Amino acid sequence: MRWIRHPGRALDAYLDGELDGRDVDRVAAHLGHYLLCRQRAAITLQIRRSLRTMAGRT
Ligand SMILES: [Zn+2]
Repeated sequence: MRWIRHPGRALDAYLDGELDGRDVDRVAAHLGHYLLCRQRAAITLQIRRSLRTMAGRT
């Protein structure tokens, strides 16, 4: 049941593009296994994009 551990903070870093190779693979694999996490990541990404837009940054 190794993959039942959700990346949490690592997922945030992943979405920010702050992870290095091996951790990116680990989070990506997790997202590949869990549809719910993938959807959550997509929503988080959308929220971040709109927040960034509101803040006037590119
Ligand atoms: Zn997860």
